[in-house]
Amino acid sequence: MMIDTHCHLDDARYEEDLEEVLKRSWDARVQGVLIPGADIEDLSRAQSIAHRFENVFFAAGVHPYHHGQYDEKIVRDFLADPKCIAVGECGLDYYRLPEDSKEKEVEVAAQKEVFKAHIHLAKELKKPLIVHIRDANDDSKTLLLDEKASDVGGVLHC
Ligand SMILES: [Zn+2]
Repeated sequence: MMIDTHCHLDDARYEEDLEEVLKRSWDARVQGVLIPGADIEDLSRAQSIAHRFENVFFAAGVHPYHHGQYDEKIVRDFLADPKCIAVGECGLDYYRLPEDSKEKEVEVAAQKEVFKAHIHLAKELKKPLIVHIRDANDDSKTLLLDEKASDVGGVLHC
C-alpha cells in the first residue's frame, strides 16, 4: 500500500485544482494522503479538506519555525477529530538560528520545549509523529530517545 505522508494540500496554491491533484495521486495508486500541520492558522483548512475526501487525513502540530504559535488546547481539539491521525509536523530546525548567541540559546530551548510537548501529546493519544529535522540531528536524536518517541513511532523528514 502506498501512502503520501507529507502533502501540504492546505496550501492556498492548491485551492483551484485540488480535485485534479488528488486524482493524479489516486491514478498513481496512492491510497491515502496525509496533510501535515505546519502553521496553526491552516489547521482548520486541512481539517475541512480531510473531511471532503475519504482517503485524505490530516495531522495537528506546528512546524519548528512556528513554535511560538503552539497552543496545546487548539492542537488537542484538532486531534480529537478521527480524521486527525498524527501529531506534527514538529521537530527541530536550526537552519536559520539567530546570530546572537543568547538569542540562539533562547530559540533552541523554545524549539525543544515545543517539540517535547508534541511528543508527550502523541504518546498520550497514541498517535504517530511527523518529525521535521534540519541541521539538528544530534539534538533531535537525543530528544527522541530521551522522550521515548519510539513508543508511537512515525516518520522523519527534511
Ligand atoms: Zn517539514
